[in-house]
Amino acid sequence: MTATPDVDLDRRPSGTERAVLRALSDGRQRTVAEVCAELAVPRSSVVHALNRLRARGVVMDHPARGSARGRPARSWSLAAAPGLLAVIVAAAHGAIAGVVRPDGEVLAVVEGAEDSSGPAEALELLDRALAEAEVTPAGIELAVLGLPGPSLFARESGGEPLDGSHLRRFRDWDGRPAAHVVGEHLGCPVFCENDANLAAIGEACHGNAADTDTTLYISLTYGTGAGLVLNGRLHRGGSRLAGEIGHLHVDDGGQLCECGARGCFWQTMSIPALLSELAMVHGRTFTVGDLDAAAISRELEIMRALRGFGRTLGRRVADLVVFLDPQAIVVDSTLGAASHVIADGIREAVDQYTPPTMAASVRVLSGSLGRSAHVLGAAALARTENLLRAGRKVGTGDVSGCAGLNGRAGSPAPGGDVGPGNTANLEAVTGEDLNR
Ligand SMILES: [Zn+2]
Repeated sequence: MTATPDVDLDRRPSGTERAVLRALSDGRQRTVAEVCAELAVPRSSVVHALNRLRARGVVMDHPARGSARGRPARSWSLAAAPGLLAVIVAAAHGAIAGVVRPDGEVLAVVEGAEDSSGPAEALELLDRALAEAEVTPAGIELAVLGLPGPSLFARESGGEPLDGSHLRRFRDWDGRPAAHVVGEHLGCPVFCENDANLAAIGEACHGNAADTDTTLYISLTYGTGAGLVLNGRLHRGGSRLAGEIGHLHVDDGGQLCECGARGCFWQTMSIPALLSELAMVHGRTFTVGDLDAAAISRELEIMRALRGFGRTLGRRVADLVVFLDPQAIVVDSTLGAASHVIADGIREAVDQYTPPTMAASVRVLSGSLGRSAHVLGAAALARTENLLRAGRKVGTGDVSGCAGLNGRAGSPAPGGDVGPGNTANLEAVTGEDLNR
């Protein structure tokens, strides 16, 4: 771990600091004047924010280059992050692993089979990603673990009972917290995030929705869920389960769901359910790749099924549009060309069931990042929520500065056993703010 100055992490950034971080989040160097112009914020406020962020090691200044006239201005950027991120997403229907630099340079992305979200398979996938990126665990500074269910569940990893939680099977790997297993495997801290949230942040920062502040991302291939980016902030919600659209109630007489409710959306409408229906009708297996191929070749029957799926999903999404008034609805692009057809169906439903003014203002589009969305989302989180610095602090055995960083009552460090070689689920350092 790189030595870092003793800085005050236990403080939420001010609004100006968040705005400055967002302005610098593309990695380019900017002068104070450029930041002021971009944010329309007084120079004194920007200088104050930059100095505070520099004192915390979040940004750095660069020597002024020579200028023909006048005193040249220093430029500023996010502090260079020395480490790499390992990303492992073990979702309900498959797994992805990758290695990425904090600036968003993806070194490797590998995908597992649909049943590869178990502990052994996930770790094997992680090793494949490391090998492809030609890095060893020693080069990994932080692991980001994407799982279904709530993000940042530090308290659960401390050993509190999980009984009764429908998400336990995703969080416990052979009876142990998944984050601990990954942390021991890599020897670095681990940050847990909801898998759909990771993809949402990836698309909102690096993808087709990068020019919008309010985005509803819909995850389909790896599990039916959603991620909400509201006014540039990742919205995690009170129980950190915001966006679980798979558990929208649709049928009073439906089956009992593992979440404890009855008749949830995902039980009848999901990509795995659609694949099963197609398999039954056509007498052969269907994969997500088949949906992609069918959409490319515009097979009428499959296109109709995909568009109908989109319309049914869109009927629910339309209600969310009325509540949230998002600028963009982004459909999981790991479905390839099929995501465009589903987006067309959602578009039809939104046009049908929302007030015309709202329908006219919201874009419905396919994502653009495919399997890289989660990996890029992890990089964006690390960059904008300052996770790498927090990880180092945890790595030194000091978690006191992380537990309460999101302004909540400080939850105790997981079992007090966090240190090098162990793991931690870090609370959001900058207060659940995407800070794009
Ligand atoms: Zn449910």
